[in-house]
Amino acid sequence: MDKQSAMKKAQELHELLNTYNYEYNVLDNPSVPDSEYDRLMMELIKLEEAFPELKTSDSPTQRVGGSVLESFQKVVHKTPMLSLGNAFNEVDLQDFDRRVRQAVGDDVQYVVELKIDGLAVSLRYENGLFVQGATRGDGTTGEDITENLKTIRSIPLRLKKELSFEVRGEAFMPRKSFEKLNELRLQLEEEPFANPRNAAAGSIRQLDPKIAAKRNLDIFVYSIADLGGTGVDKHSEALDLLEELGFKTNKERKKCENIDEVLKLIEGIQEKRATLPYDIDGIVIKVDMLSQQEELGFTAKSPRWAIAYKFPAEEVMTKLIDIELSV
Ligand code: NAD
Repeated sequence: MDKQSAMKKAQELHELLNTYNYEYNVLDNPSVPDSEYDRLMMELIKLEEAFPELKTSDSPTQRVGGSVLESFQKVVHKTPMLSLGNAFNEVDLQDFDRRVRQAVGDDVQYVVELKIDGLAVSLRYENGLFVQGATRGDGTTGEDITENLKTIRSIPLRLKKELSFEVRGEAFMPRKSFEKLNELRLQLEEEPFANPRNAAAGSIRQLDPKIAAKRNLDIFVYSIADLGGTGVDKHSEALDLLEELGFKTNKERKKCENIDEVLKLIEGIQEKRATLPYDIDGIVIKVDMLSQQEELGFTAKSPRWAIAYKFPAEEVMTKLIDIELSV
């Protein structure tokens, strides 16, 4: 492809991806399956690799999430809330492992977690009390959704220790709550939500916490943003600490000694996917040692010490098509 055509293609992809981002992140109402968005994003990444001058700071490849709704108070995140790099097959995962070992050596353990299909939130505690909750927003600034998060019963309002820190997790709508909500919406002749992820996002960004309270949301917490003072030196220890403190963590996590062990786990998780009471859209693989995470650092958009393996597209497509047929 010559430079002129590449520029034209990049422009087209910017426009499409920006539209889809807006629909997904701001309106909570996507018009295309995630797999289509991921495919276009990959096309743009490849184009920018071939023509680096196309990698402008406003490119969708450089941005996290969406914009912040004006109707909410803004929260500036002390630690940015980033996205995750994507892997779609074994080769991508082997590449990730190679990059990690090149940077920190061969003695690397991974933690494999389910990638919960919900909405990233941040929970700030001061002296053990829950004081503020926020959406990810554009990664730097999010929306203050404290009152809505207080309606999620699995979020402890007071911790078992008087710690001051920020915890990150995924708020989600369990499948049963989603089905009930859509049944109700159809009865009321309201438009049903496309999937539990969009229902969760739409519910948590309600200005009236009473509406959020009726939506039966839940949360799995998956990290501590600023570990200072907690004394842990592994991600797996941070998860254990969160559990001890009264948070709900996902029990399906596993420690792996190498990438081959990770690869062996994937098939089993994919088989289990349909039986889970909540939606997942992949798995997340994280380097366990925090000192190694620090050494690896971050790109503008995501940590170099973690990657999201996304499940193949067909199942996601079916989900959207099913919904369309049932409406
Ligand atoms: P992402 O969803 O690929 O990964 C990052 C997110 O994973 C984190 O922010 C966190 O919220 C979540 N997560 C879930 N479980 C986790 C765990 N155990 N540990 C850590 N994080 C965990 O990236 P993104 O930037 O949030 O969203 C981009 C994705 O959203 C795209 O890849 C696409 O699939 C979808 N999207 C779809 C459309 C559409 O129109 N259909 C538009 C925009 C984005």
